[in-house]
Amino acid sequence: MRVLIISDIHANLTAFETVLADARNEWEYVWCLGDVVGYGPDPNECVDLLKTLPHLCLAGNHDWAALGRLDIRTFNPDARRAVDWTRETLTADNLAYLEALPTTFVIGNYTLAHGSPREPVWEYILEPLIAALNFSHFETPYCLVGHTHQPIIYEQIDDQGDTEAIAPIYRQRIALNGHRQIINPGSVGQPRDANPDAAYAILDVETNQWEHRRIAYNIPAVQKRMRKYELPERLISRLEHGW
Ligand code: ZN
Repeated sequence: MRVLIISDIHANLTAFETVLADARNEWEYVWCLGDVVGYGPDPNECVDLLKTLPHLCLAGNHDWAALGRLDIRTFNPDARRAVDWTRETLTADNLAYLEALPTTFVIGNYTLAHGSPREPVWEYILEPLIAALNFSHFETPYCLVGHTHQPIIYEQIDDQGDTEAIAPIYRQRIALNGHRQIINPGSVGQPRDANPDAAYAILDVETNQWEHRRIAYNIPAVQKRMRKYELPERLISRLEHGW
C-alpha cells in the first residue's frame, strides 16, 4: 500500500488541493499528522476535503486549540487571533471530527505522532539531540511526525543512540534502511524552512520506500482569503517566505 503522508495543512485549501493534484493516483490511503486547522482561511473546507479521502488523522496542537482544549495564553497574539477566528468558524460537525482525533497511532513499522512520540501534541523535534531522546519512546523502526513544518529525517546511527539529521532529497525515492528513524514530511499549508512550496511525502509501507516532495501553489489566492477574513498580516505574509 502506498500512503500519502501529509501534515500541518493549517486550513490552507489551495495548498491541500495542489498536493492532492500533484500526488494524483500514486497512493491508496492518507496519513495526516495533525494541525488540519489553525492560521489559514479554510478550516471547514480542509476538514471536509480530508473526510472524503480514505485516511487516518492525528490531533495537533492547533486542532486542540480550536476545540478550546488548550490554554492559548502561551500562543503569540497573532496565533491567538487565528485560533479565535477558527473556533468561531468551524461547524459543529467539524469540531466533532477534530474532537475524536487520537494523539498517536501505531501501524505496521510506523508510529505516528504530531509533535513527538514522547509528547505527541507539543514537543518540537528541531535537532538531533531531541530526536535522540525520543527513540526510546516508540517501539517500531520508524516514527513519523509533523509540527515543526520542516521536512527532515533523523536517523539513529549507532547503538549508543547517536543521531544525525539527513536533509530531504525531493522527488527521489529512498529505501528506509533499517536504522531507526524519525521522519517529518514538512507542512502542506505553512512551510517554515525558507521554502514556501507545499511539502508532503509518499510512503510505500510494503517496501518501506519514502519520497519527500515539494510543489508550488497559488499563495496569493490564499492570502486574498486571509485578508477578507482579517486574519493577522504577519500570518498572511509568512506564506510567501516560508517561515
Ligand atoms: Zn502546525
